[in-house]
Amino acid sequence: MALSVIDLYRDVLPKTNCGDCGFKTCMAFAGMVVSERLPIRNCPHLDADVVASCEKKLQEQYDSGKWLKKNPAKDALLWAKKRSASMVLEDLPKRIGGRIVTRNGTKVSALPYFNKTIFVSFDTIVDEDGLELNMWEQVFIYNHIAQNGSAEPSNDWKGFSEFPNTVSKIKSMEAHIEKPIADFFSGSPDRLLLAAKRIGGVDKTKEMDSADVAILFSPLPKVPVMLLFWDVDQKDGFEAQVKLLFDATVTQHLDIESIMFLSERIYQLLCR
Ligand code: SF4
Repeated sequence: MALSVIDLYRDVLPKTNCGDCGFKTCMAFAGMVVSERLPIRNCPHLDADVVASCEKKLQEQYDSGKWLKKNPAKDALLWAKKRSASMVLEDLPKRIGGRIVTRNGTKVSALPYFNKTIFVSFDTIVDEDGLELNMWEQVFIYNHIAQNGSAEPSNDWKGFSEFPNTVSKIKSMEAHIEKPIADFFSGSPDRLLLAAKRIGGVDKTKEMDSADVAILFSPLPKVPVMLLFWDVDQKDGFEAQVKLLFDATVTQHLDIESIMFLSERIYQLLCR
């Protein structure tokens, strides 16, 4: 039988509000156990058999999602991992690039990511220091794996709005990614180039002469992104502008939602 917050408070916890678990009241602690998966053993005043019995019941209700607080990043990551779980690790190098290596006794995919290498297993994705990537990064990388594409970049650049099924996301791309980057570097194209170089961006301004600055990013081997920047022109009253361009093959590698997450990550890395 499931354990609600009231069940835990009334039937299990000591109700002394001692604060030893880090919460001021037993009720607050019970709420965190039920909705946020806080371990019940964090209350040090429970008998081991009570803890074991509660953990069993709690695990069942966590697995069913009952009363759990919604965490969009966590849900998206679970879904992306589930999507990618049927893929074969050894197939990844020829599809998405990178190579298979053995790390801590386990085979993983060593994948170039911006100017670093990340290590991808079907459980988690870590950087060179063994630190887990943030959840949204893992979401678009697992979705990249699950998308099952293998196309090489075609060097045919398209704006986000040129891809199918982007209508509902175009405003968000402009307002939450392109405009904030433009505002952040307005009047400072050199600062943009420096920030871009820090994450492996390559100056392509001479080749893309329609913009004041053009930078090629390689977040993933088969997923290049071009950033075009037009600086503020006070004389003619133009604000700085940014446009992200994607290779025509990008939807073979990422779903539209994941293109948004990747773009968001570029914004975060540039403007941090
Ligand atoms: S440590 Fe246990 S008894 Fe103390 S406040 Fe937390 S839940 Fe209540």
